[in-house]
Amino acid sequence: MIHEHRVLNPATEELVATVPATSAAEVSTAVTRAAQAQRTWAALAPADRARLLRRFAVLVDDHRERLARLEVTEAGHTLGNARSEAANVRDLLDYAAGGVERLTGRQIPVPGGIDITFLEPLGVVGVIAPWNFPMPIAAWGVAPALAAGNAVLLKPAETTPLTAQYLARLALEAGLPEHLFQVLPGAGDVAGRALVEHPGVAKIVFTGSTRVGKEIMAGCADRVKRLTLELGGKSPNIVFADADIETAAAAAPMSFLDNAGQDCCARSRILVQRTVYDRFLELLVPAVASVVVGDPSDEKTQMGPLISLAQLERVRGFVPDGADGIRGSAPTGAGFWFPPTVLTGVAPDAPVATQEVFGPVAVVLPFEDEEDAVRLADATDHGLAGSVWTRDVGRALRVSRAVRAGNLSVNSHSAVRYGTPFGGYKQSGLGRELGPDALAAFTETKNVFIDTEA
Ligand code: NAD
Repeated sequence: MIHEHRVLNPATEELVATVPATSAAEVSTAVTRAAQAQRTWAALAPADRARLLRRFAVLVDDHRERLARLEVTEAGHTLGNARSEAANVRDLLDYAAGGVERLTGRQIPVPGGIDITFLEPLGVVGVIAPWNFPMPIAAWGVAPALAAGNAVLLKPAETTPLTAQYLARLALEAGLPEHLFQVLPGAGDVAGRALVEHPGVAKIVFTGSTRVGKEIMAGCADRVKRLTLELGGKSPNIVFADADIETAAAAAPMSFLDNAGQDCCARSRILVQRTVYDRFLELLVPAVASVVVGDPSDEKTQMGPLISLAQLERVRGFVPDGADGIRGSAPTGAGFWFPPTVLTGVAPDAPVATQEVFGPVAVVLPFEDEEDAVRLADATDHGLAGSVWTRDVGRALRVSRAVRAGNLSVNSHSAVRYGTPFGGYKQSGLGRELGPDALAAFTETKNVFIDTEA
């Protein structure tokens, strides 16, 4: 059994920290403590819970730069991205705090009495987070779960536990009850599995690979445990001939190179209407070449390294030597580097065109018309996000409605906002996070009928 995890800086391969791995027995103790803390938390007046969450948000804001630097070091994120991610955690906490006093039930007209519903907290919630956006994705679960009156046990990814631990310290400093929000670093198949199997954990929020998500779903089925899944993606970027082709080509590289492509919403399938295909490729070549790849702590850098050697090998496995395409440059030497890559001449059903690579690799495929574009867009098991580039508003809406994915953007690649719902169709997930209904996903609806004629 592994007793500790080594955290490496992916840009240099230097050892940053060693973090003890939580055992199944320690998870069990954490659940007992969290259950006690949850009762204290749920008994507080809603305005007091909201105030404490706002105080937590203020502390995150005060420590933003420190959190961002930690994310650069442990996850290889560019400094600009890491700063926005820390700010996003603050915003998520603020937004969730605003929901505490608005978590209202309903009064429903029925004969013979009064019927009211209550949104009750679930109890202890387990959040299992991935390494690609360690801070914000953890906060997508942690902030609304706390706001809805729950305790949270967060299992960060093996490679990226440091920002999660830092956030837990800030929560304590803000005055949240001890043990209400605990971070349990450790192996997925030990600490993660223990959370899934523990009868005292009422819900699992899992973000990660579709493969592990299926295992977790099966584990939760045993106890009919509540579950939200945010899984992989293979999102299309659909460019119609009537679009502003210059703008679409300029925006395409960062839509799959941001975070070195380790983004579940990466627009890694660029679908271009055949009549403008050659022109689009001509424009894409300089756009890809101009992306600045290198030291993530340099403010000018747009793309950093991959997270690990294992991820680098996985990405290499998708790209045959000598494949046709467009390539950017990347540093050589220490660090897990892969250059920006756009493959051309790929069969639409090739693994690189249908499976999630999770690296700085996209394919570009031609399509004929609207129907063909939607068919190609849907030709994967995933359905997380997508973009539609066109000047025709009717087409923008028709195609956005037709594509089987949870998050579409028109003439933009924006996918995730804390105030709007996020989640996947098909094998990209189950349930929705963020947005106005985020807190409700961490409650049970209780219906109470009062007989007024007895
Ligand atoms: P992963 O599935 O390997 O691991 C995710 C988390 O699950 C880690 O904390 C890991 O330790 C834990 N885990 C692993 N095995 C487990 C088990 N048997 N039981 C319980 N927990 C277990 O994923 P990853 O490689 O860390 O993350 C990358 C994946 O996450 C990509 O596929 C990406 O698309 C996906 N992702 C999805 C979204 C989304 O919102 N849909 C967002 C970001 C990332």
